[in-house]
Amino acid sequence: MQASTKLISPTHPTLNLSHPTIESFIWNTLIRAHVQAKARPPTTPFFNSPLSIFLRMRFHSVQPDFHTFPFLLQSFTSPSSLHSGLKIHAQIFKFGLACDPFVQTSLINMFSSCGNLGFAQQLFDEIPQPDLPSWNSIINANVKLGFINVARNLFDEMPKRNVISWSCMLSGYVRCGECKEALTLFREMQRMEVSDVRPNQFTMSVVLSACGRLGALEHGKWAHAYIDKCGMKVDVVLGTCLIDMYAKCGSIDRARWVFDNLGPNKDVMAWSAMMSGLAMHGHGQECLDLFSKMMNYGVRPNGVIFLGVLCACVHGGLVSEGNDYFNMMDKEFGISPLIQHYGCMVDLYGRAGLIDKAWDVVKSMPMEPDVIVWGALLSGSRMCGDIETCEVALKKLIELEPTNSSAYVLLSNVYAKMGRWKDARNVRSLMEANGIRKVPGCSLVEVGGVIHEFFVGDESHPDTREIYLMLDEIMNRLKINGYVTNTKEVLLDLDEEGKELALSLHSEKLAIAFAILKTNIGTPIHIVKNLRTCSDCHVAMKMISKVFGREIVVRDCSRFHHFIDGVCSCKDYW
Ligand code: ZN
Ligand code: ZN
Repeated sequence: MQASTKLISPTHPTLNLSHPTIESFIWNTLIRAHVQAKARPPTTPFFNSPLSIFLRMRFHSVQPDFHTFPFLLQSFTSPSSLHSGLKIHAQIFKFGLACDPFVQTSLINMFSSCGNLGFAQQLFDEIPQPDLPSWNSIINANVKLGFINVARNLFDEMPKRNVISWSCMLSGYVRCGECKEALTLFREMQRMEVSDVRPNQFTMSVVLSACGRLGALEHGKWAHAYIDKCGMKVDVVLGTCLIDMYAKCGSIDRARWVFDNLGPNKDVMAWSAMMSGLAMHGHGQECLDLFSKMMNYGVRPNGVIFLGVLCACVHGGLVSEGNDYFNMMDKEFGISPLIQHYGCMVDLYGRAGLIDKAWDVVKSMPMEPDVIVWGALLSGSRMCGDIETCEVALKKLIELEPTNSSAYVLLSNVYAKMGRWKDARNVRSLMEANGIRKVPGCSLVEVGGVIHEFFVGDESHPDTREIYLMLDEIMNRLKINGYVTNTKEVLLDLDEEGKELALSLHSEKLAIAFAILKTNIGTPIHIVKNLRTCSDCHVAMKMISKVFGREIVVRDCSRFHHFIDGVCSCKDYW
């Protein structure tokens, strides 16, 4: 049934006028209009809920039909509306519409929107021969609530799939961070392309987001070429996805190219993606220039734009500029700073060594500081060796996030550094007692179109022997050139990956060794790391870029580092 497909993409509801009477048609139209109005901010103070329109329809003794309920059910979107949803379910039975496929699909969607997967599943199981939209709805319900494996089983089981089924499954993988799985599934989708299933703009936006998260530039470039090959229109939404993907994959020039070619009708999202990209790459001044340009175009900045601008100031060490923009938010644009904006200010002052000013921001915040704020204060105080502030920030972090393994490790290192060995041991035992394990360091590198994953001290790769031999050779050549392992800082400055593991086995070093082994001389190396890069790896990478003549781009959890000829774009400030 065609119409129910539309329920999955509620932006294009259609009216099918096969049966309804003229009275029900008018009421249905009214209900639909109110459902759509509900999705937007209220424009009229005399707003009626779709449910109250339905009750008035019944009061006037107008019979609902199979178009009435799908519209109405779309208005129940949170757990608090489950009760009303159940009442409407009873009405559906009363009017004998429970077997209508359009209504069934709408019910599954309603139950999943209300967070009740049990009811959704039960309803689906009771349909003797579910149609394609019902299958899509139950998969979507599982995806939304994070049951990705159940969703996959249903996906594998369904007799026929359309582009919605594939896109839904792909976005499910991206949502739960299984981006490699998403790309594998996309390849499978392409093999199926002989049938009439072709990716659409939404599918491609999901694929691009998977590439961006993985930092898989080659895959991303390929997806871009595929979009062009299909003649798919790069509108501002898809264009923004491309900008975001290229920026996250370390190719800020390509991001800029897409941005410049988007034409004059760029919305605030496109500007924001470009500005955040520049900020991540440490192009602070360029980001601020773009802000002025955006203002000249008459695009009004929002909170997200200011977040990008403040980030640019943080990564570029532009303290007074950051302060000006922060004040501008409220004064000139009436935007109240959110906790993320305060976090940026703490970061800005902290990294510049102005810990007192950072503390002033923390104390002046109208809301309770969260993990981002304490984390920012921690980085600042770590950088300038303010051990007391480190201790306070770490205690707060552990209080707010009792499973944050790196906070425990750091706190115990802080105590060790202060000579408070008993406290250091206590933190370690607390960590063990709570069963908290360290997040292992992990680096991804794309070689020959395949993504390779390395953990710290990893020996699982099929080419392990060659990789370790290459690593030895690299370290020897670095030593000849004056490299000394930076063990002094192991205690405090690092070390999310644990000081007990030799620094030379950090995951990014393994990834580099592999890339040097497998790629031609001069090929740039792109690495994505899940934790902050430690200063020993940072020094090593600077030297590798010079000694081996390789451009190395590393995305760690906070920013990009471009290593060229012995120098990093972050100017050792990260
Ligand atoms: Zn390291
Ligand atoms: Zn750097």
